[in-house]
Amino acid sequence: MSKFRIINCHIHTFTSQHVPESFPFPGAQYIRDNPTIILGLAWMARLIGQEHLSDQLKRLYQFQQQGERASQQEILDDVADHYPSDSRFIILPMALQQTGFGKVPVSLKDQHDELAQMRDLAPGRDTIVPFATLDPRDPGSVAECQRALTDLGFQGVKIYPRLGFAPDDDALMQTIYPMVDKLDIPVMTHCSRGGVQGSDVCDYKGDGFTRPHAYLPVLRAFPNMRLCFAHFGGQVDWSAYVNATETRGRENWMEQIRDMIGGGRYPNLWTDISYTLFQFDDFAPLLRLLLEGDDLASQRLRRRVLFGSDFYMTRQEELSERAVSIRLRNVLGEDLFKQIAETNPQVWLGELVEDKTLWTGQG
Ligand SMILES: [Zn+2]
Repeated sequence: MSKFRIINCHIHTFTSQHVPESFPFPGAQYIRDNPTIILGLAWMARLIGQEHLSDQLKRLYQFQQQGERASQQEILDDVADHYPSDSRFIILPMALQQTGFGKVPVSLKDQHDELAQMRDLAPGRDTIVPFATLDPRDPGSVAECQRALTDLGFQGVKIYPRLGFAPDDDALMQTIYPMVDKLDIPVMTHCSRGGVQGSDVCDYKGDGFTRPHAYLPVLRAFPNMRLCFAHFGGQVDWSAYVNATETRGRENWMEQIRDMIGGGRYPNLWTDISYTLFQFDDFAPLLRLLLEGDDLASQRLRRRVLFGSDFYMTRQEELSERAVSIRLRNVLGEDLFKQIAETNPQVWLGELVEDKTLWTGQG
């Protein structure tokens, strides 16, 4: 095996203390306080022959228990167990205060401060790479994001428009993106039809905030900003592509991202494969096809895909972190895996200067 350092570009360590009390429905707190209810339901499902449902409920329990860890450090320790000891992790916080699901016990400031502490205590200066987050609808959280970037030295920004704001929201366009540009740090954004949605955001509205083409004004205004569409459009769109079916709005986000990157017009646009590739058997062959071509578009894509997992959201899935990364390494081969798990993340983070000739010609 060749020697390289894996950079997992997409993990979460927030706990139930960073989640609103009534998320995702009123009374959710009751289940959180009495999680064995889920196990009881799993037992009943098995009893009536619903094995699949029973497994799903058990994984839901596993997910719920993961979020109940007392600190973000404990969650980090759990994910680190799945990777070689010198691996690096980009940690993405969440700002769920404005989602309309009630009070969040721990503030965004405390969530950021805890991440800074984890970074400072980690063995090796670059092991933990914390990103800052915000909800642009809340001026306090915009200021908090700025503080995390300047005072705490965070190395990127995570946004989550599906919560209920546009990617070209004024606070982002006028305050956060210019700052990101100046600091020369990357931005990660949630780009799939799944995940968290604000309580007053219907699917149609959520898709409108999330679809890759919603970022066109951002890409035009900030052409040098290194922006990553997380999840490569998401499992729903990958599945629709593989099965030649249609998705909501009759557009496939995987294809949109592939074409936006492959076309060469946006040299600083990236995507990550987190969560999506946990449906491994269905999607790994397609990922390999997308990355292996000789044409210019595939060559560009090969340089713009990042390895990430989305721990601990993936605790709801059957495969473990380690199982997925071993399988990926096997299917893609060492060179390609190293490309997406080390080289590309280093370029995205701004640690490695790349040769841009793939983007200077036409395509
Ligand atoms: Zn995520």
